[in-house]
Amino acid sequence: MAAISAAIFTLVKTGEHIVAPRSMYATTTNFLHHVKEQFGIETTFVDATNAENYRAAIRPETKLFWIETPTNPLVLITDIEAVVALAREHGITTVADNTFATPFNQRPLELGVDAVVHSATKYLGGHSDLTAGVLVGSREVVEAARHGANKFYGGNIAPQVAWLVIRGIKTLALRMERHNSNALTIANMLGDHPKVEAVFYPGLESHPNHEIAKRQMPGGYGGMIGLDVGSVAAGKAFANSVRLCTLATSLGGVETILQHSASMTHAPIPCEDRLNAGITDGLIRLSVGVEDVHDLMADLTQALDKI
Ligand SMILES: *Cc1c(COP(=O)(O)O)cnc(C)c1O
Repeated sequence: MAAISAAIFTLVKTGEHIVAPRSMYATTTNFLHHVKEQFGIETTFVDATNAENYRAAIRPETKLFWIETPTNPLVLITDIEAVVALAREHGITTVADNTFATPFNQRPLELGVDAVVHSATKYLGGHSDLTAGVLVGSREVVEAARHGANKFYGGNIAPQVAWLVIRGIKTLALRMERHNSNALTIANMLGDHPKVEAVFYPGLESHPNHEIAKRQMPGGYGGMIGLDVGSVAAGKAFANSVRLCTLATSLGGVETILQHSASMTHAPIPCEDRLNAGITDGLIRLSVGVEDVHDLMADLTQALDKI
């Protein structure tokens, strides 16, 4: 969030306007509500699975297109090149949250995005033992953030944590290869399972934006899967029955982590708002780790049997 807030406070001023996905990492959404209240920077939230919706939201004061792809937690895909083309036509800056994909799978800067943010807490660190953020992009943006927003708001990384992130990145490629292959195998298995009502994974042909993902994620589709087991009771029973997987709210570590959104991260949110955001009663967010895939399949299968 330090990287995200630094990017936004560097690029947008009071009276200017942002267009962002309607469904994305919830704290970014909440932060954009906060900057409207506190600083008079408005955001229009659009269905970002169709790039044309960014065009429809443009105002004379639009300064920034925010992109997150795949999104947290529904792994929705935005066509990065299409959004960049629109932004360039209108002199608008683009920033992409590339946390779920990582640079191993997807490189938004090469697709024309002006700046990229990562929660290094997730795959870059990779071991669920640090919190950190990264902002990369043109010298102009990054230097302005370093000497402005970062300094003023105090979002600076501690040296020991920076060292841990650098150490984590040394094995990023190895880890991502395994995250990608484990997740694809598990997504296919879940898709065939009678207790699973829906599986969301950009690597499946059934994903509505699979073709876009295939084009812009040359390294693979990542380790994040959404699955719907149908009800709050089924979601809780499943989540409480895993043994190898860990029940927790973070993601992107070497260990498989899952959470039941309706009873965990989204429990404080009124049911109707939660459903409007696409967080259904039985939604499980699964961060597939690097364990032996057969062990993972066995654990998930025995937990599905408990529903
Ligand atoms: C976790 C996450 C963040 C926030 O990261 P922190 O390191 O917890 O501040 C931002 N974007 C996405 C997509 C995330 O998953």
